[in-house]
Amino acid sequence: MAKVIVVGGGFAGIAAATALAEKGINVELLESRGFLGGRVYSTENPSFPAPLDNGPHLFMGCYHETWKLFKRLNCSGSFKTIDPLRLSWLLPGGQKASLQCAPLPAPFHLIWGLFTTNAFPWKEKISLIKALMYFSKKPFKIKPEIKTISQFMNFTGQGPRSRELFWIPLCNAVMNVSVNLAPIRGFGEVLHRVFFGSRHDSSLVLTDKPLSEIGFKEVPVYLKDHQGSVHFHEGVQSFKVSTNTFEVITRSGQTYCGDALIWAVPPTSLTALWPKNDWQAIQTLPQLGKSPILSVHLIVSKTLINDHLVGLVGSHFEWVFNRNAHWDYPGEGQYLSLVASAADSLSRQTEKELVNLVMQELKDRLPASFTWEVLHAKVTREMAATFIWTSEADKLRLPCETPYPQVFLAGDWTDTGLPATIEGACLSGHRAAQKVISYLKMI
Ligand SMILES: Cc1cc2nc3c(=O)[nH]c(=O)nc-3n(C[C@H](O)[C@H](O)[C@H](O)COP(=O)(O)OP(=O)(O)OC[C@H]3O[C@@H](n4cnc5c(N)ncnc54)[C@H](O)[C@@H]3O)c2cc1C
Repeated sequence: MAKVIVVGGGFAGIAAATALAEKGINVELLESRGFLGGRVYSTENPSFPAPLDNGPHLFMGCYHETWKLFKRLNCSGSFKTIDPLRLSWLLPGGQKASLQCAPLPAPFHLIWGLFTTNAFPWKEKISLIKALMYFSKKPFKIKPEIKTISQFMNFTGQGPRSRELFWIPLCNAVMNVSVNLAPIRGFGEVLHRVFFGSRHDSSLVLTDKPLSEIGFKEVPVYLKDHQGSVHFHEGVQSFKVSTNTFEVITRSGQTYCGDALIWAVPPTSLTALWPKNDWQAIQTLPQLGKSPILSVHLIVSKTLINDHLVGLVGSHFEWVFNRNAHWDYPGEGQYLSLVASAADSLSRQTEKELVNLVMQELKDRLPASFTWEVLHAKVTREMAATFIWTSEADKLRLPCETPYPQVFLAGDWTDTGLPATIEGACLSGHRAAQKVISYLKMI
């Protein structure tokens, strides 16, 4: 039986390892930490009465590779789906806006939603629909000189409301990069998948429990049932490779080798591990950069929000996740998690400053008659949440293949054509598994 080593137990590594195991291949998955999930996890903190996600994670109906993975692990039931898509926003001064798509086939579900929403004036609705139509069919017919989302918004005459409620918060959430840097073609790929597939593709999907409980515990069982295993606390420390063989040596001193190897670790880890002076492209990976995501988790004395997810227009924190609605949080008060993406400007603020900022921004957007207080607050920071996807970064994102035919790459930063998301990670993992299977057939 062929044996494959997968290094890194985030979504990319898990997707690759389980896809290979499904095909009868013996897989050893090496993970440096004591748990799987990589950048998707939750923790307990004695000063906060509920589990804390490292940051709210939103899934979408169009995450086809991700759903394939969850189906394989037999845990498709850990989610709540909002289908047809519904979005609502709180504006400064206590105004509300909402968009409710219709139970119609795509894209008519969205066109109906845009026609009937109170979120945008008529002129802006028309220019938003016209702009979205650029992404209805591939290849996208956008002039080569229009590179960023900002340039595209200017070119298509997007008004202030559609910028504030649609383009900016969606870009931040999906790309974790500001509209001034994020490439329009990459964002267009997301818009194409979300709005021009099936209606279900644009549904929002939220976990119905903390992130650590959504299926990672099933992975060791799945691999064991398929003659493989997960090795926790096995951080790879060094890597030797030649034309047909390889060895990875872990911090515990174990050596692992096999017929093929998949690296599913973040780019900076790969640069540190790859033999020096061997492959120049690996040395340039740190230039992909790091973009932070900050989350402020609050338990407030009253119910402030009824929807699952609400946009905070003009705020540093673009979205509020309502844990009572999707986790059925049973404790006292309401559990809200507010998220700030591409949050460089906030990343050095103290917990107290961030909590005060969030409270002020919420107060500015809720009716003045509301009186409420914060019972508990906690901040989670992910300083390297994603790489910074710009047009230039496209040249740095690497393909699955390496100069060594038995060594492959996976990870949300590889050249999937998607932003650094769970779906990008799963796509890269499944793609790497497919390449390994083709390679094993050849040897
Ligand atoms: C706060 C936050 C919010 C986010 N929100 C969303 C969202 O709403 N929707 C969405 O789709 N995506 C979101 N993302 C992005 C998403 O989490 C990532 O794109 C995805 O999880 C990346 O998976 P990965 O497997 O490529 O990498 P990782 O998850 O980073 O996995 C890499 C793994 O490799 C391990 N590793 C590293 N070095 C070694 C070594 N030397 N030896 C062994 N193991 C090693 C690490 O411990 C880790 O487990 C968010 C990310 C963050 C941080």
